[in-house]
Amino acid sequence: MRMRLRLRLHYLLDAKLLSHQHGSITSDVNQKNIAIIGAGFAGLASATLLARAGHRVTVHEKFTKPAAIGAGILIQPTGLAAMRVLGIEEEILRHGAKVDWLWGVTPQGRTVIDIRYESWRAGAYGVGVHRGVLFNALWKAATEAGVIIITGHEIETLSEIESAHDLTIIADGAHSRTRAQTGLKVRTRLYPWGAAWAVLPDLDRVYSNTLLQWYDRAEKMFGIMPTGLQPDSATPVVSLFWSLHSARYDTWRARGLDAWKDEVLKLNPKACDLMAQICSIEQLTWARYYDVVMPKYHTDRVVVIGDAAHATSPQLGQGTNLALTDAVALAHCVKTADSVAHALMNYTTARKQHLHFYSQASRLLTPVFQSDQRLLPWLRDKLMATSSRWPIARDINRQTLVGVRQGWFKGEIEN
Ligand SMILES: Cc1cc2nc3c(=O)[nH]c(=O)nc-3n(C[C@H](O)[C@H](O)[C@H](O)COP(=O)(O)OP(=O)(O)OC[C@H]3O[C@@H](n4cnc5c(N)ncnc54)[C@H](O)[C@@H]3O)c2cc1C
Repeated sequence: MRMRLRLRLHYLLDAKLLSHQHGSITSDVNQKNIAIIGAGFAGLASATLLARAGHRVTVHEKFTKPAAIGAGILIQPTGLAAMRVLGIEEEILRHGAKVDWLWGVTPQGRTVIDIRYESWRAGAYGVGVHRGVLFNALWKAATEAGVIIITGHEIETLSEIESAHDLTIIADGAHSRTRAQTGLKVRTRLYPWGAAWAVLPDLDRVYSNTLLQWYDRAEKMFGIMPTGLQPDSATPVVSLFWSLHSARYDTWRARGLDAWKDEVLKLNPKACDLMAQICSIEQLTWARYYDVVMPKYHTDRVVVIGDAAHATSPQLGQGTNLALTDAVALAHCVKTADSVAHALMNYTTARKQHLHFYSQASRLLTPVFQSDQRLLPWLRDKLMATSSRWPIARDINRQTLVGVRQGWFKGEIEN
């Protein structure tokens, strides 16, 4: 049954104001000249919604041929709700793989994570999707909405576009070079751990419905995520990921493929068919992640969204979902405020709690799954699965996973 999430998050429900079916709703007097830096998920989603609302939107992207290459991403119910507003949900469901269970286990067979989306809300699920599929859907939506996309144009100085536009949106990702030029406070930190990723064919769809993880303390983690179809193809694929400390990356490569496969198979002997598809260490892509924290996301005419404003480790699988929700919230604030300055003030107010909670939760959780510590993973193995029997912990776990938690002492996001 198709899930219809009714989040109490007014900008995600504001389909009347933002839906693609409603075309241009802004008069020429209110039409704004908007520049967006970055054609990633945050940039393309906000460009689409703002162009549909009748604004003149130009996106500047540094790559000549932009494409979201890389592994799969897990879309949460919040991300799906944002996609519904964007009009791309059906396409993502057609090309993605439904995920209704997250399950993680130790080599001793102790269950560490056992969360079913259904336990949060009947009919709920996540979707594993290839980055390229989401990118293509957003690119198409943006171009159809009339967004001008200038590729091969890296913005180095914010002032080069800020003065010529009513609103400038910084959506240039975690490594943003323009964010610091706003004068806004920002704290960035590169995590010492990262992950090696690969996308592999899963022609018989052996891996469906469940995101699986195997842990040995917090030093080793192997995961498999159903990822739907390869972009522009009918090949079913899965993403696999292997957690690794950056200081050990060169040694890991030098030890070679067979040594790594032995480690993986010790954690999950059933992965031998997948491992057989990997013939070279080059098939794995190495990814590092940043932690970015901003107390405020806007000045009078500039706003920072997506990873540029709040990158986290992917432990909770929320980054893309937060970026899409930012886009919907921003379009709503621009539509409903009487000036750009007010819209941006409302935007920070609307997004701050939600974003700060996920930033803190990701920071706290990351060493529980990626670190050389002994005590934290020991406590994790003892407590996490049993915590599902404690009502408060159970609710926090579920709401955090699906993306709707707004604070340690606050429940789901309200409008
Ligand atoms: C290993 C890994 C796994 C992840 N898994 C998940 C997951 O399962 N679920 C999830 O929700 N999220 C996940 N994420 C997070 C997710 O990838 C990000 O949150 C998301 O891509 C952020 O989108 P964005 O548009 O803000 O930034 P980006 O995707 O980084 O896009 C920024 C764009 O700006 C362009 N750009 C940069 N600088 C400039 C410039 N100066 N001028 C012009 N253009 C510029 C870039 O080329 C790029 O196209 C994961 C991240 C990693 C690293």
